[in-house]
Amino acid sequence: MKYPILKHQNAIGFSIFALAVCISLLMGYLWYTGVVPAWVLILVNAFLFGILHELEHDLIHFMYFKNNKFIQNYMLGWVWILRPLTLNPWFRRTLHFHHHRFSGTLHDVEERGVTNGEKWSLKRLIFTPDLVIGNLLRVTGLFRDIKREVENGNLKFETAKKIKLYGVFGLIPLTIISHIVLYLFSFDVILDFINSKFSTGIVLSETLKAIIQWSNPIIYIVLLPNLLRQFSLHFITSNLHYFGDVEKGNVVEQTQVLNVWWTYPFQIFCFFFGWTHAIHHFVVNETFYVRHIARKKAYEVMKANGVRFNDLGTFKRANRYHETTK
Ligand SMILES: [Zn+2]
Ligand SMILES: [Zn+2]
Repeated sequence: MKYPILKHQNAIGFSIFALAVCISLLMGYLWYTGVVPAWVLILVNAFLFGILHELEHDLIHFMYFKNNKFIQNYMLGWVWILRPLTLNPWFRRTLHFHHHRFSGTLHDVEERGVTNGEKWSLKRLIFTPDLVIGNLLRVTGLFRDIKREVENGNLKFETAKKIKLYGVFGLIPLTIISHIVLYLFSFDVILDFINSKFSTGIVLSETLKAIIQWSNPIIYIVLLPNLLRQFSLHFITSNLHYFGDVEKGNVVEQTQVLNVWWTYPFQIFCFFFGWTHAIHHFVVNETFYVRHIARKKAYEVMKANGVRFNDLGTFKRANRYHETTK
């Protein structure tokens, strides 16, 4: 009632979407024509794609164009193509709803896919943004846990089957292809660096070089900004959600508010996810910008009810809510 403009949720959502998409493409053009340097392109687009991620999440919760499937899916399609390192949003929707129902459990596939619940190490750091090789190496452990949860009666067999299938199908083909292009690109950069020091003579084949050359605009305009964005988001989200010992259905134990000063560089590229995601666990049906507007008031209520703020011990406890680690 205080802000009548918020009644126009569809228009606001679509304007933010159109603006972010257009500016990111314009930045790409300006970089391509040599007006802006690569680092500016990467930083600006990472910020804009962070906004698109918030929009995707709102769209997953059907918050814009509830009665117009076409525009809804049109927007989802764009925010997916401009964030191709992520899971297909139509598959992610199922995993995300599962996350809300079972946050912090062994079968919270969405969070486990981004390293939540693991001991902190160089391995976790490297796999934080990586959904393909990172998940490939961890998938047997995850599936084993899911199987055990079914046997223990904590998860229905059909649901288990669905979340496993969707987790895999969601990566095909865009996520896998974009990861492979990034792996190739990184490998090429590393080889070039080594050769500049020691001239080993080891280089990529002509075909692989041609693929990298051909994908160069996509790498700089879309993939590298997304790598930065995805690392930032996964780092923040996997440390603000608790894992493994969250009391069933207890929303207070599911998340914390993570807004300590040194996380600021990461927050910029995930539209300050750490500031507001905990609010979302309590009030699901609220757009991302409303969460930001109502943040301070929400914090008062959350503090009074025992939600944690900047519990950095989570880094030592592999994201367990309680002190004792498994
Ligand atoms: Zn959600
Ligand atoms: Zn969550």
